[in-house]
Amino acid sequence: MKIEDNIDTFNSLLKRAGFIWGPSPEIYGGLAGFYSYGPAGMALKNNVLSLFRKELRALGFGEVECPTVMPEIVWKASGHLDRFIDPVLKCSKCETLLRADKFLQEKLPDTMIDGISFDEMEKLIKKHKLTCPNCDTPIEKIEEYNLMLKTTVGNNSIAYLRPETATTTYLLFNRLDQVNRRQYPIKVFQYGKAYRNEISPRQMVLRMRAFDQFELQLFIGKKQEMNFEEYETIKSTSLPLLDWKLQEEKVQVPNKITLEEAINSKILKKPAYAYCLYLGYYLTRILGFTDDFMRFRQHSPNERAHYADDAWDLEIKTRQFGWVEICGIHDRTDYDLRRHGEFSKQVFSVMMDPNSKEKEIPQILEIAFGIDRILYTLLETSFTVDNERINLKLNPYLAPNQVAVFPLVRNKIEIKNLAKKVHELLLNHRIISFYDEAGSIGKRYRRQDELGTCYCITIDYESLDDNTVTIRERDSMEQIRIEIENIPEYLNEQFTVKNFQI
Ligand SMILES: [Zn+2]
Repeated sequence: MKIEDNIDTFNSLLKRAGFIWGPSPEIYGGLAGFYSYGPAGMALKNNVLSLFRKELRALGFGEVECPTVMPEIVWKASGHLDRFIDPVLKCSKCETLLRADKFLQEKLPDTMIDGISFDEMEKLIKKHKLTCPNCDTPIEKIEEYNLMLKTTVGNNSIAYLRPETATTTYLLFNRLDQVNRRQYPIKVFQYGKAYRNEISPRQMVLRMRAFDQFELQLFIGKKQEMNFEEYETIKSTSLPLLDWKLQEEKVQVPNKITLEEAINSKILKKPAYAYCLYLGYYLTRILGFTDDFMRFRQHSPNERAHYADDAWDLEIKTRQFGWVEICGIHDRTDYDLRRHGEFSKQVFSVMMDPNSKEKEIPQILEIAFGIDRILYTLLETSFTVDNERINLKLNPYLAPNQVAVFPLVRNKIEIKNLAKKVHELLLNHRIISFYDEAGSIGKRYRRQDELGTCYCITIDYESLDDNTVTIRERDSMEQIRIEIENIPEYLNEQFTVKNFQI
């Protein structure tokens, strides 16, 4: 069968290679919005996480981990109980539930739906006489639907699974303030599961009911936001900023402008916020995403979450799902700490400016990554088919296998033994090597190409004479000959992220 360069080939690769399986549990038919990762998917995810962790520790961020279940009062204080809601349409006859905004966007592709109010949505439904897609009954009212998953703890006390990691990080403010010895900004991140009871989850791992977040927080003073030290070193970086006005002019892909221009022309209000956009961009680029697939899109005032003063999404262009948000950068102001201070009766105002005796509640700037969305978009944008060769062009340091080792033939015992020795040598150096002797050499290369393995080592007859092997590079398919004892050093050189610049 011919291997076509299309989305079906990609989707079947995700399953066949062990990246993404589901909906889970597959053997029972699957529950919408839940997926599993296979060994290749988990290896990729862990490589992304360890890269992020390493970069963030180098940038002065500490890591925390909090419970995924929190009592009701937390979500009252955070505003999620009252305001973390989606508009839904319920058919009065067949009881089909639809997410109103998604339904309208599908039915009225030329109308701007993002950010319009529930009332305006109802008006559109009436105007266009929209009906239930299942039974054709006219649809009438929009209802509010809270996205949090509810549970009970112990003796029936109500609790919720967290809809974001961020709020659980904020609850640690007093502790963080202490360990940071009252130096600001406090930089901290949390990785972990969050849960949202999506009405009709679609788009595979892009909209799951249980998903992974990686959220960075800066606790910062009001003055410091406007006079932010790191801004000076990053202000000449150019970013593709699609502000709200450009969207009204129907621009899809903006020209890049420097952060300094964005601040001067008031597209961005705060230098510290500009730094957060930079950080989101930096962490995305280091994964291997290129500018051709990226843009920052500003939320309209209506589209913003209840806590946000300014919000931009970092989006990746995909073939299957259009522009996909992988990161949201939010100016949450002092909203969260103010509310948690009120509800917990704790004092969160601190002296943030050494030159002033005045106390203030810290502002919060947030950079929120969706790890599952990163994995999906990374896989899709790395996927290529060239002359029927599937090649997953992942960065060498992200690919599930770092290297694969093949004996040229399997029936010559000396070659096989030497190949196993090379494989062992690499594993002893903690280079993740995959040994494969099954099938033709061409098929073995193909199998690694579609997993994104950058280097394949083949042991042949010549190896028995002079202790050299060939190393084949994935994208160029060029081969070099190298002595066995030099392989670990050569490979480690390729896997190091060196002086990454954007
Ligand atoms: Zn119906």
